[in-house]
Amino acid sequence: VKRIVVKVGSSILVENQEIASPRIEALCEFVAELQSKYEVILVTSGAVAAGYTQKEIDKAFVPNKQALASMGQPLLMHMYYTEFRKHGIQCAQMLLAAYDLDSRKRTDNAHNTIEVLISHKVIPIINENDATALEELVFGDNDRLSALVAYHFNADLLVILSDIDGYYTANPRTSADAKMRLIVHEISRHELVAEATPNNRFATGGIVTKLQAAQFLLERGGKMYLCSGFQLEKARDFLLGGHHELGTLFY
Ligand code: ADP
Repeated sequence: VKRIVVKVGSSILVENQEIASPRIEALCEFVAELQSKYEVILVTSGAVAAGYTQKEIDKAFVPNKQALASMGQPLLMHMYYTEFRKHGIQCAQMLLAAYDLDSRKRTDNAHNTIEVLISHKVIPIINENDATALEELVFGDNDRLSALVAYHFNADLLVILSDIDGYYTANPRTSADAKMRLIVHEISRHELVAEATPNNRFATGGIVTKLQAAQFLLERGGKMYLCSGFQLEKARDFLLGGHHELGTLFY
């Protein structure tokens, strides 16, 4: 069985200061389908945005974002728990930080937890532990964390469900003639440092942190697929139907 990590961005989970319940429903249904073919690990963003649906604490200050994430995390988990249960699936929460994956011992511990959960068909749901770690909270929206997770927990593929349906030759929001790149084997140094352009005010990554995640995996023989989290059809076609029509595959 192949193992995949599915990372879902904030903009998919929360919209207009409300939890996007229909999209979380669709996501959990999709993950349930994926489980027939893959071992699945979910990496979720969205805790800060979910917290902000409960209390409007000024997001300009990092400690406030940490507090919002602490409020939003159980709310998100409640949604996942409820939706997965409809499909007879149990899930588990793992809060990690990049530094948990740079010590051999801590990585092994986390890996052991993952293996037990997966062997029991429980979906591990990973997020950054924002109360103590700030990297993804400030810049990254879990793009980098999901690449670390894919690499250290031996996934065959990282799937990033984004607010954009692929990687384009230019920013498609500003260039009308931007074309989607279906397959990318190499990412230039210049692409990896271009100015971050996250599309909404909770997204902190933009395309650059996704490219950095892809680069991290490419350098280690891994693969990443970037596609829309709003419409899951293309991801379904690719992961369950075996045809790659849209979305960018980095390998
Ligand atoms: P998410 O919330 O899904 O993590 P982000 O909003 O952080 O996603 O990043 C994706 C955004 O990056 C797109 O919506 C788009 O506005 C911007 N972007 C800039 N350049 C590109 C490009 N070449 N291809 C695709 N998206 C790009």
